[in-house]
Amino acid sequence: MNKLYDNHNRLINYVRLAVTDRCNLRCFYCMPEEGIKYLPKEELLSYEEMERTIRLLVEMGIEKVRITGGEPFVRKNMLEFLTTLSKIEGLRQINLTTNGTLTAPLIPTLKKIGIRTINLSLDSFDKDRFYEITRRDEFDKVLHTFEQLLFHGINTKINAVVMEGKNIEDIIPLAKLTKEHPVSIRFIEEMPFNGTGSNYPTLNWNHKKILSHLQEAFPSIHKIPDPANATAAHYQIPGHKGNIGIIAAYSRTFCGTCNRLRITPQGMLKTCLYDSGVFNIKKVIRSGATDAQLKDTFLEALGNRAKDGFEAEQKRKSGNAVSESMSTIGG
Ligand code: SAM
Ligand code: SF4
Repeated sequence: MNKLYDNHNRLINYVRLAVTDRCNLRCFYCMPEEGIKYLPKEELLSYEEMERTIRLLVEMGIEKVRITGGEPFVRKNMLEFLTTLSKIEGLRQINLTTNGTLTAPLIPTLKKIGIRTINLSLDSFDKDRFYEITRRDEFDKVLHTFEQLLFHGINTKINAVVMEGKNIEDIIPLAKLTKEHPVSIRFIEEMPFNGTGSNYPTLNWNHKKILSHLQEAFPSIHKIPDPANATAAHYQIPGHKGNIGIIAAYSRTFCGTCNRLRITPQGMLKTCLYDSGVFNIKKVIRSGATDAQLKDTFLEALGNRAKDGFEAEQKRKSGNAVSESMSTIGG
């Protein structure tokens, strides 16, 4: 088995593949309410191009792929694509991140394909607040997906972005879910990837504040070991079946062990969430590159990887601040 390392000697074995920029929700931290321009179909990586890219990366040492978006299940024939991916030799894990609006009926098939872990984005268990955050009335479907994930025994993680003035009152009820359910509730610092260019100099609800809020409500909450290369710092409340993760996505405390690459729907390779893309895989493929040439291009990109998200942000090609929609990156 080959191993892939970057120029800072970090093992790279994980790719996050955003399969579409389209979405049926409009989460306010991710997309503007109106006026988002979707990519024309020919600008997206085709399924064949994505499969080829993943196959080559697996030959180079990638072991795990996360399917994300946009909302993965708004792209047609997604289950067929996942089935094709599941047959790639050497690819040990396929996980996915979904908003849960279209997911419930697909869960038995996803399980059959071998999807073991699903991250469900759910920032609030309050129907009105869910509507306010996502700008769509889809709460009941998402709740049904949550229930079905548990019913089918899928390893479930709930992603909740922590937002001042939007869902602070949800933090404790979400954490309480870990009492009865073997789920991981992950509180994520809000990042300025919302498509409108807004930015903030300091983040009030950062990982430290989220933790002290939890400690106030659950004085016995304690740190538990993190899996290798985890972005979340993990905690548990004694006697609870599940655990709690806090992801310092804005503070960037985890870059030293970052093992991941990102591929955007239009085929940009990102070696850091905060870079503006290092090369376009689609262009290289469509210029007729051989497998060996494509692999060399990946190696070159990994040889120039920023040491952390702050350096990557500073080096952004256009010099512009982070502002693109997370739906074009995949989280
Ligand atoms: N549509 C799917 C979903 O919502 O799960 C997958 C794509 S979404 C971009 C992936 C993850 O990114 C979600 O869990 C979402 O909460 C997170 N995300 C989006 N915008 C974010 C932001 N500005 N800050 C932090 N997390 C964000
Ligand atoms: Fe859609 Fe996911 Fe972005 Fe929400 S976070 S708008 S569900 S892509």
